[in-house]
Amino acid sequence: MSLRVLVVEDDREIRTLVQSALALEGFEVQTAVTLSEAVALLQNSPPDVIVLDLGLPDGEGLQLVRELRRNSSVPVVVVSARHQETQKIELLDAGADDYLTKPFSVAELLARIRVALRHRGTALAAAVTVHALDDLHIDLSTRTVMRAGQPVHLTPTEFKLLAHLVRSVGRVVTHRQLLADVWGPEYTEHTHYLRLYMAQLRAKIERDPAEPRHLLTETGVGYRLAAD
Ligand code: CA
Repeated sequence: MSLRVLVVEDDREIRTLVQSALALEGFEVQTAVTLSEAVALLQNSPPDVIVLDLGLPDGEGLQLVRELRRNSSVPVVVVSARHQETQKIELLDAGADDYLTKPFSVAELLARIRVALRHRGTALAAAVTVHALDDLHIDLSTRTVMRAGQPVHLTPTEFKLLAHLVRSVGRVVTHRQLLADVWGPEYTEHTHYLRLYMAQLRAKIERDPAEPRHLLTETGVGYRLAAD
């Protein structure tokens, strides 16, 4: 059975492009132009994944995510315009899985959808504990990090930070989510902690910390551990 995707987008050109690209990939595609149309479709036939535009004629995508997260864990990939940066962070904190900024390529969208689906799938089955890419190997269960075959020594805080990114591999994690998880909910504004610890982590696990291959910066939003 093919996976069902709901595309909520009021821009006809983008909607048509995304619809045909996803159909080509074997998805069963439903589209909605407004929030209310999306809500009606969600009630009738819940999709496996949602591609959601931020600004819609009858409201903001954020409303839908908040509503949805009360009783659903369906993956949501948000599509936003560049000027909607702050809303984007709110959306991720409200439970959206990832985002893309317009204009985006169909290949990028498909990659984000796959990661979001995989993540929800593994969250239900077993959490990701091993991450290997290039010369980096991380095993959360044994708390070991190897780079080019050599053990890397991390402080407990560095390890906690890296572990959160491994569990969300391929997905963006907001500053707020990282700060709350690693330092505690009262530290969500202390983004300087993140900058400091991320620099330390990069110095330890990146071949060239100035050109990170693994720990990617999502400007103004957060960080992403590269999946491939
Ligand atoms: Ca729009």
